[in-house]
Amino acid sequence: MALAAGPEKQIGKLVIRNIGLLLSGALEAPVLDADTIVAENGRIVAIGKAADCDTGDARVTIDAHGCALAPGLIDSHVHPVFGDWTPRQSQLNWIDSFLHGGVTTMVSAGEVHLPGRPRDVVGVKALAITAQRAFSNFRPGGVKLHAGAPVIEKGMTEQDFSDLAAAGVTLLGEVGLGSVKAGDEAKQMVAWARKYGMQSTIHTGGPSVPGSGYIDADTVLEADADIIGHINGGHTALPPRQIRCLCESCTRGIEIVHNGNELAALHAFRTARELGQMQRVILGTDSPAGSGVQPLGILRMIALLSALGDTPAELVFACATGNTARLRKLDGGIIEVGRTADFVLMDRAQHSAGTDLLDSVRQGDLPGIGMVVIDGIVRCGRSRNTPPAERIPEIVQ
Ligand SMILES: [Zn+2]
Repeated sequence: MALAAGPEKQIGKLVIRNIGLLLSGALEAPVLDADTIVAENGRIVAIGKAADCDTGDARVTIDAHGCALAPGLIDSHVHPVFGDWTPRQSQLNWIDSFLHGGVTTMVSAGEVHLPGRPRDVVGVKALAITAQRAFSNFRPGGVKLHAGAPVIEKGMTEQDFSDLAAAGVTLLGEVGLGSVKAGDEAKQMVAWARKYGMQSTIHTGGPSVPGSGYIDADTVLEADADIIGHINGGHTALPPRQIRCLCESCTRGIEIVHNGNELAALHAFRTARELGQMQRVILGTDSPAGSGVQPLGILRMIALLSALGDTPAELVFACATGNTARLRKLDGGIIEVGRTADFVLMDRAQHSAGTDLLDSVRQGDLPGIGMVVIDGIVRCGRSRNTPPAERIPEIVQ
């Protein structure tokens, strides 16, 4: 489809009607009984049946034509460098390609692929602040990339964490990718980061690339980072009993990634579900990485965990949206009045064996994306990356 309106025409009131299935992003009530969403200036102001919503005077009206709408997907684990470029696989426009996979928000787990990445403390801090600023000012395709995630190195002091926080840095890169690999040392720095309001993630499992380290369950538990980064390895996973131990012995986020071990992913997912801890499960790609860049990586994780993890697709969509938003304190991820208007509209892919969107994902197929909205602005129409859907939304005004 052609987009009828440019972004500048779309600031103001947005109405999306004829939504066939509304996924909330919230595990406790994953499907909403509504067919219309109204947003104003980038925020949701009404959700309900068309007759109950004020749909007049919209700047843009979208007829969803019965497609499903979900919160924009969140990739909890990416490794950006600068711009929409990654030197890891010499690839351009990878973030824009993720937009076409339904991703509207990304969280950096460290800008580790920067050629010549500094390892001295001043350099580490300067890079983090620069990355935070650069990705705040530059959003490829509109995608929100929370970056500026310093990889902690030996010699950092409490003052360094205080300085970083004061400069606007809110994240730590994966603990373990730098020279700090021992549990006690990591624990001290994670605690300093937390004291100054910075969120932390720890690398879990075998080394990812030469230079990174092996981090076992004891070290993860001792460091006590907010997120157990790629619990299924990046790529080499811990043995199943250690993965179970991590799920049982703490309450931190259980991050499962595409660039990890798929068997371990299923083990972690099933264990979390069995323990009644699904709210801790969040999804990422851990890309760009050695195994590449996956524009459809979050959708593929949803299909994998739903199909082989024997779990209703709407619950796994919540893991990739609302769970991540809650654990990472992000604004989107849930369809709720007041939240940011980041949406993905999709439908069952053509010729899927599934009977509808949710059944097709449950059977392992990817949905076809027909439109992505960020901050109430249409960012793309029919995805160039997903299989074509049976129905696609249309801008009617
Ligand atoms: Zn890692």
